[in-house]
Amino acid sequence: MRYDHVIWDWNGTLFDDVDLVVEIADLMLVRRSLPGIDRRRYLELFGFPVRGYYERVGFDLQQESFEQLSLEFIAEYQKRWGDHRLRSEAHRVIDWLDRRGVTQSVLSASEQVMLETVTAHFRIAERMTALIGTDNHHAASKLDQGLAHIQSLSVPRRRILLIGDTEHDYEVAVAIGIDCALVTEGHAPRERLKSTGMSTFDSLTKLVASIE
Ligand SMILES: [Mg+2]
Repeated sequence: MRYDHVIWDWNGTLFDDVDLVVEIADLMLVRRSLPGIDRRRYLELFGFPVRGYYERVGFDLQQESFEQLSLEFIAEYQKRWGDHRLRSEAHRVIDWLDRRGVTQSVLSASEQVMLETVTAHFRIAERMTALIGTDNHHAASKLDQGLAHIQSLSVPRRRILLIGDTEHDYEVAVAIGIDCALVTEGHAPRERLKSTGMSTFDSLTKLVASIE
């Protein structure tokens, strides 16, 4: 194996929540009599920090605070996440890496308690050596948490792989000096992921097979 440790992104990488997030954004826009959003348009506009995405989607941040919008989003997300699923391959690829002695963790821009709750529900938490979230619901960046996390791992950086689904995962990996591989069908369109120059895969199974 080329790596001893894999750092997983959560939303869109292990947890298939794109449709959920599109549904909530659409609902919040319609509540404000703004034009709604579909999956195609969401993928065009979504990005980190999430504040900029809220503006691009059409929310008026002069009229209401980003904090209020974030709280409304999270309240809806908490009501509905249980209706959604992991990517079908998630447990299989985690087992596969485990059998090869690769340790694994999750690094997410989600708030810590929610990350712990959702990953425990899907029996992912128990497979991970660490679950790293943030202390707020703003989904700004996970760079600082990522840096602290790799310093806490006793694994050389060249032996750590970050697996994600957005350009932010790529940016974090570059900034902290570890390799990155990206999976499509998450929160970013395939063409934009390819333009990072990182290896891009249409399934987690193919992705992890490529690192053997
Ligand atoms: Mg993600």
